[in-house]
Amino acid sequence: MVEAKDMVCIVCPLGCKLKVTKDNASEAGFAVEGNKCPRGLDYGIKEMTNPTRVLTTTVKITHAALNRIPVRTKGAIPKPLIFQAMKLMNEVEVKAPVKVGQVVIKNILGTGIDVIASRSIYKKAELNHYFCHSQRKDFAELII
Ligand code: SF4
Repeated sequence: MVEAKDMVCIVCPLGCKLKVTKDNASEAGFAVEGNKCPRGLDYGIKEMTNPTRVLTTTVKITHAALNRIPVRTKGAIPKPLIFQAMKLMNEVEVKAPVKVGQVVIKNILGTGIDVIASRSIYKKAELNHYFCHSQRKDFAELII
């Protein structure tokens, strides 16, 4: 295990520069310097013991006006699984319509975390219907 590491806290936009060092005397086993709040302490320790990230990307979608739909993991997944998760998401294809929050991949890589749609996308035919009937307000809601 790494004994000390410099890192930037990404929990808030302040981006404190942290130094995390092994400290057997503390309960967590690490000491954190440079954090301006307790969240930085938690972040620094987690980065040393079990780093995780929320993954955001896009997946293919068919029967829609767009070719891809933005998705994200509903929670943070272990950092070492990010590459494998991206590969899996690259192979996924969903069919419109998709609603925001809809599960695209359940329990990705056995993490217990689902991948969900970050926006709604309607069927191409539904878009045409709104276009033809000049329901501009509804149309705007469909494409945003
Ligand atoms: S330590 Fe606290 S104040 Fe500093 S970047 Fe992290 S969350 Fe923000």
